[in-house]
Amino acid sequence: MTHGNAPAAVPRSTLVVTAHAGDFVWRAGGAIALAASRGEKVTIACLTFGERGESAKAWREGRKLDEIKAIRRAEAEEAAATLGAEVRFFDAGDYPLLATPSLTDRLVEVYRATQPDVVLTHPVEDPYNGDHPAANRMALEARVLAQAVGYPGEGEIIGAPPVFYFEPHQPEMSGFRPEVLLDITEVWETKREAMECLAAQRHLWDYYTDLAVRRGVQLRRNAGPNLGLPHKTMAEAFMRPYPQIAKELA
Ligand SMILES: [Zn+2]
Repeated sequence: MTHGNAPAAVPRSTLVVTAHAGDFVWRAGGAIALAASRGEKVTIACLTFGERGESAKAWREGRKLDEIKAIRRAEAEEAAATLGAEVRFFDAGDYPLLATPSLTDRLVEVYRATQPDVVLTHPVEDPYNGDHPAANRMALEARVLAQAVGYPGEGEIIGAPPVFYFEPHQPEMSGFRPEVLLDITEVWETKREAMECLAAQRHLWDYYTDLAVRRGVQLRRNAGPNLGLPHKTMAEAFMRPYPQIAKELA
């Protein structure tokens, strides 16, 4: 299978910036597993464990904050390993996650260390969860700062990696349009396995399976009949905040 650009000498690098421990699995697990399956490096910058806002089951079970953070950390590590990615935890505290200069600076370090070819993060809007827009702002700002020769810090400056926004839980309310539909059929079982690592959010397993089916139907409709895609194509949707660069419209 070819993937557009000429192959690079070093493995391509993907950086995923997420607010909470589960986000990368539900929203981009297929993209991560696909990249990893091609031998590419995937690094997840996980800003919080989602300990307050996305761990209701554990709170109802009477668990304490530190215990919940440990549970979510272990789940996310297992999910990341299943997908073939490395996860780095910032433990910045959720609900609310605050965009701060020091946290952004730590992200700049990750950008420069990983030299991403692709960046995945949350969309700009999410009226249901302020942590997601906060992660978006820091992900975009750190990308810009990491490009600047004059911004202090370790490592080489980065290029201009394209950014893809992954799908929020309430896409219509978050101004999300499925501009890119990624075929994740070949890694679907891996994504499902990673979702099942997240026992604290078991209620989402089937929801995100159904979403992948629906996006897959839309992918097939947009691809047309000539590609011979399987009847049950699974897909993830993304938006692009920056223009796509091309020499040929295709
Ligand atoms: Zn989240």
